[in-house]
Amino acid sequence: MKRRNFIAGTVLAPAAAAAPVSVSGKPALLGGAPVRQTAFPSWPVQDSLESTGLSEVLRSGKWGRGTGKTVGRFEEAYAKTTGAKACLATANGTSSLLVALSALGIGPGDEVIVPPYTFVATINVILQNFALPVFVDTDRDTFQIDARKVEAAINPNTALLMPVHLGGSVADLDTLLVIGEKRRIPILEDAAQAHLAEWRGKSVGTFGRAGCFSFQASKNLNSGEGGAIVSNDEALIGQCYAFHNNSRGRNTAGADFSYQARGLNLRLTEFQAAILLAQMSRLKQQSKTREENAAALTAMLKQVPGIAPATMYANCTRNAYHLYMFRYDPAHFSGLPRAGFLKALQAEGIPCSGGYSPLNREPLLKNTLMSKGYRRIYGEKRLKDWFEQNQCPVNDRLCGEAVWFTQTMLLTERAGMEQIAGAIARIQRHAADLAKL
Ligand SMILES: *Cc1c(COP(=O)(O)O)cnc(C)c1O
Repeated sequence: MKRRNFIAGTVLAPAAAAAPVSVSGKPALLGGAPVRQTAFPSWPVQDSLESTGLSEVLRSGKWGRGTGKTVGRFEEAYAKTTGAKACLATANGTSSLLVALSALGIGPGDEVIVPPYTFVATINVILQNFALPVFVDTDRDTFQIDARKVEAAINPNTALLMPVHLGGSVADLDTLLVIGEKRRIPILEDAAQAHLAEWRGKSVGTFGRAGCFSFQASKNLNSGEGGAIVSNDEALIGQCYAFHNNSRGRNTAGADFSYQARGLNLRLTEFQAAILLAQMSRLKQQSKTREENAAALTAMLKQVPGIAPATMYANCTRNAYHLYMFRYDPAHFSGLPRAGFLKALQAEGIPCSGGYSPLNREPLLKNTLMSKGYRRIYGEKRLKDWFEQNQCPVNDRLCGEAVWFTQTMLLTERAGMEQIAGAIARIQRHAADLAKL
């Protein structure tokens, strides 16, 4: 196929005008040289800032929260970054969600509305509280929860809306906030993948009652493990503090053993906070690089028939690009199945994956909901109805079409984006031969 044919039929808005995608050479799987011969940037990035911060904590002998001041300093800095009134650091992102759910009083009998296109932690914390996750189908264009379908899933047992800002993009907060207000249901934002993402110029995590972040090793802000809850409700963060500190509040003196509520120990260490403070010094610049590279890549991939980059809602003013996601249509690649496309792209030196499989179909749900405790709480009929209503056909389809690049690939030089687009174009041109492999 000639390049003219290759981009035919694509109408480009002037603003989106991008360098034409260059197609050359044979695919690596058919004996050609890989388009990219060097590795993408490694992750995490670190230098003397991290080692100085770590050795200061080490030498201080104050390694845990309570004696040291580093966790508090990080919380202050992160609250400021997000514009939230208060922040609590936790041991990891999963525990930030668990703590927030507990502070919001989510428990047995409650239904929590979630997307099926997310990491399993989003629903594990719901199940841990013996609540019922209710899946609302995905918006195929944005990969986010389809906010237009949320209201139909609400009933008197609905206790929480838990949108996820998947991939660093932002769920349709305008629609969700209106529904939450109208139906008087709180919103908890799972922003584990969305550090610095913004909606209408304001940081995610600050729109609902609280927002939860993860600092796990793969995330855009990373301390190996770590998490945080932000909120404009200082009393709520106070309750979160007590829960994450084995029922002991901020002002509980050493010998005060009056416990007001359940708790766990889910504290962040001083070492992790030191790393986070150092990592935060690079976060804005890294985010800017990701955004610029993603924009360039999108402008190129939009020219490729059969490749549909995830779109953003109009009021998503900043995408954190934890993931770069697009849909792949084999019909434009001589029927080459997605697995074959992924393999061919990897052979070109472009790491990629097919992303999530349908979470609402995972055996963990059946196994948990059929457990003794769940049957006792919900009864046979309610559980039967749950299984019947648990259908997300758009998401099922999307899970078979998706292709992901990770955030670190967006930290490379601009030529890397051209290589990605070039590799895809090369695969397309030779798709018929690749399909025969
Ligand atoms: C990473 C992640 C979590 C959990 O965070 P951990 O720090 O790994 O516990 C929760 N939700 C989403 C959407 C995530 O991507």
